[in-house]
Amino acid sequence: MLEVTGASKVFGGRHGVTAVQEASLIARPGEFIAIVGESGSGKSTLARMLLGLIPPTSGGIALDGVDLRRMDPTQRRGYRRTVQAVLQDPAGSLNPRKTVRKALADVIRRHAIASRKDMERVASAALESVGLFPASAFLDRYPHELSGGQRQRVLIARALVLDPRIIIADEAVSALDASVKAGVLRVMTALQAERGIGYVFITHDLPVVQKVADTVYVMRAGRIVEHGPKKRIFEDPQHEYTRTLLAAAPRL
Ligand code: ADP
Ligand code: MG
Repeated sequence: MLEVTGASKVFGGRHGVTAVQEASLIARPGEFIAIVGESGSGKSTLARMLLGLIPPTSGGIALDGVDLRRMDPTQRRGYRRTVQAVLQDPAGSLNPRKTVRKALADVIRRHAIASRKDMERVASAALESVGLFPASAFLDRYPHELSGGQRQRVLIARALVLDPRIIIADEAVSALDASVKAGVLRVMTALQAERGIGYVFITHDLPVVQKVADTVYVMRAGRIVEHGPKKRIFEDPQHEYTRTLLAAAPRL
């Protein structure tokens, strides 16, 4: 279980920008959490704290009850495997000069997942589990030789080789066309069902949230203003801001 307790992030010292203010959240394996909110509401900052990329200014992030700041190097390595990121590809998540094989091999080697001899088998299994069949047709391609949906699947496969329990996805499908997006979401929900992977899925796309989320958190101006089961949030929003968001969403 991944738990954020009253986490705040202030950028730029005492009179800086409060990007996230006293956010609390619990993410469990097998649960699909969506975080919604307008641009600038602190979603990506919360994601970066969850990934251990930036420390909270106050409050804590803990995995199975152990605070990130108290982890020894071994626990930290474990954290970096257990909690994986899938970001938006245009953000340069894949190196344009690396083949798919190299992108996966680097991760497998860095975390000592498999021997050199088993590398290809592990990489291929990950690619096929995200629907890239046969893996041999993808291993030697460069990012520019893949479609947007295929690149996003490679990013998921790269996370999967580490056997994560929770994947933090920040606008991971936002740039994709509707049918391609649906395909990538099917891969993600299949992994949730088959492997018990949990998601913290950040998006401004409410129809997607309505389709895939179990639990919804609503952020505004750095604060989580409301959270709850998807059905309750959509059918009986308690916060004025949630009502405004839902009213502005297309075709729910
Ligand atoms: P969202 O992902 O919801 O659009 P962000 O977390 O990116 O929101 O940003 C929240 C606020 O924090 C914004 O006002 C943004 O300008 C500010 N911010 C984000 N990152 C930094 C940073 N590294 N330095 C200073 N301000 C930042
Ligand atoms: Mg963002």
